[in-house]
Amino acid sequence: MNKLSDRINQLSESQTIAMARKARELKAQGVDIISLSLGEPDFHTPQAVKEAAKKAIDADFSYYTHVSGYVELREAISRKFKRDNGLDYSAEQIVVSTGAKQSIANIVLSMINPGDEVIIPAPYWVSYVEVVKLAEGVPVFVHAGIEQDFKITAAQLKNAISAKTRMLIFSTPCNPTGSIYTSAELKAMAEVLRDYPELYVLSDEIYEHINFVGKHESLAQFDFIKDQVITVNGVSKSFAMTGWRVGYIGAPLWIAKACDKMQGQITSATCSIAQKAAHAAMELAPSSIFPMRDQFRKRRDLVLDLMKQIPGLKANTPQGAFYVFPDVQYYFGKTDGGTVIRNGTDLCTYLLEKAHVALVPGKAFGNDDCIRFSYATSEDKLREALLRMKKALSDLK
Ligand code: PMP
Ligand code: GLU
Repeated sequence: MNKLSDRINQLSESQTIAMARKARELKAQGVDIISLSLGEPDFHTPQAVKEAAKKAIDADFSYYTHVSGYVELREAISRKFKRDNGLDYSAEQIVVSTGAKQSIANIVLSMINPGDEVIIPAPYWVSYVEVVKLAEGVPVFVHAGIEQDFKITAAQLKNAISAKTRMLIFSTPCNPTGSIYTSAELKAMAEVLRDYPELYVLSDEIYEHINFVGKHESLAQFDFIKDQVITVNGVSKSFAMTGWRVGYIGAPLWIAKACDKMQGQITSATCSIAQKAAHAAMELAPSSIFPMRDQFRKRRDLVLDLMKQIPGLKANTPQGAFYVFPDVQYYFGKTDGGTVIRNGTDLCTYLLEKAHVALVPGKAFGNDDCIRFSYATSEDKLREALLRMKKALSDLK
């Protein structure tokens, strides 16, 4: 008998990846699917980054590097933190990993003991919960609905803290809601956290540059809690480099060392060529990606505008990232004569089958009243997808 570990049996499959796979399979069968499931930019990696990678191959940069990334790359990341975020992280405090996903796993596996509580504001990004479960931690969800723009308050945070709380994990700009915490909101949270010096925060800032409202605000900017914050970032979203697999952290030295040790046993450094590519990305002026960001903003406006023409899709105005997370409760209890829609998951299945539009159920992000719509695709496809959705949804009575 094939007997797997309890660990893997208890792990849920990543729903973003599962939905993208389903869409790909249906496409391969000839079904004309529009996939708005996976969150990845449809732009190309910047030319200077591609050139740097080609050069690295020709220069035989082909060997294992330092586990945390070669030193000049970490120095470049250190400069980036200072330049873009006003943060001081030395090269020793930086660990480069195989995507921010591995950065997050390194942190949680290095810091969470069985039974430790980890506060996760919902909606949250899918993988936070599963990696906490892997570490045998206990996720504690703090719900933030659309009426509070999907952001938790400092008071909610304080209420959720117990003697067992070890970590808070959240993203700003947020996947799946696009919400962004203001400097004042972050400061209010930081003031709560200051009273709990043993409570650490994983601040996932991977959508930093996809921000439509102004300057990115890092949680670690508040000096009085900087020693409690691990800043996670990466090149996947900002530089359209999802496949290159480079993420990184800036952290207190002892945490960076632990992550280096963890990674040294599991994967070692990420690909040497990808590191050279990421190095080139770090040297690019943030303004070089403004055209991509502006395209995303245009698409967001288009999607919100088209959604307004469909009854029952109640959306907030996302301020960053490339997702809209509409509340779809209006459709619960309605039917096309066959299926009765009970929740966001049913509605996603219905839209996949009937409209051939792939989305991700909000349940994957901790709120099954909603569905996630990624607008990281062309305007033509977005128009077509919303047209199909409008038609399919109008059949629900
Ligand atoms: N955090 C968030 C909020 C994300 O949306 C993603 C997207 N995959 C990641 C982390 C991980 O990114 P990557 O592993 O591609 O760097
Ligand atoms: N972060 C993206 C998303 O949420 C990519 C998929 C993933 O890594 O889970 O869709």
